[in-house]
Amino acid sequence: MIVIKNEEQIARIAKACEVAGHMLDELRGVIKPGMSTKDIDRWVEDYILKHDQKPAFKGYGGFPACACVSVNEEIIHGIPSKKKILKEGDLVKVDLGTIYKGYYSDAARTYPVGKVTEENSKLMQVAEESFFEGIKFAREGNRIGDIGHAIQSCVEAAGFSVIRDYTGHGVGEDMHEDPAVPNYGKPGHGPKLVKGMCIAVEPMIAAGDWKIRVLDNDWTVVTRDGSMTAHYENTIIITDGDPLILTCFDRKTDAQLPEKEGSC
Ligand code: MG
Repeated sequence: MIVIKNEEQIARIAKACEVAGHMLDELRGVIKPGMSTKDIDRWVEDYILKHDQKPAFKGYGGFPACACVSVNEEIIHGIPSKKKILKEGDLVKVDLGTIYKGYYSDAARTYPVGKVTEENSKLMQVAEESFFEGIKFAREGNRIGDIGHAIQSCVEAAGFSVIRDYTGHGVGEDMHEDPAVPNYGKPGHGPKLVKGMCIAVEPMIAAGDWKIRVLDNDWTVVTRDGSMTAHYENTIIITDGDPLILTCFDRKTDAQLPEKEGSC
């Protein structure tokens, strides 16, 4: 069942998203070679508590941390660890959420650790660009498949692939609500977009094949071929005009986004 949000619900989601979005912006200056993925999680937890919200991920389905921190071939659901140390050239994906007065936020970014290769830089850029291509279709009257089709077309045109086994989703009183928002699809297919829908759109992409496996910890999702991955996610609201992007405030302040002409 897709829950259409009223103004009060949207205001609460937006408050949660404000903290999540700013946190992801600030993390860009925090992530450095030599840090552990647990250090990132501690920073995230402190930030959320300082802003009087609750960490959405901690305990969710038994997840043991406040952020999913996934490195290189790990796509999503990386469990922060003191033993996992970031090194120059890694791509680290941080996915996090907060709760404000019972309403969730959910967002993710991919960060370079120090200097990364040109190919990896392009992978990050395409994940982000494909999000913005997708949400061009996030308009009342369109369908979920329109968004997925645009994301997939962008990613595949760049020579990368989209992960099939995990999708975006509705967001509200629960972190994962209907509808599923796949990063692939056919135009004109899937649930219709209606004003007041709140969804997380989150391209998860791989430099190689899209097939995945889950590690023995039952959480961490990696590419089967070991190829590098990137993830970019924002929570958005469907309106009667342009969608509202609640977890991204100024795309141009994004340090790792140089001129992006023609990345899709
Ligand atoms: Mg999500």
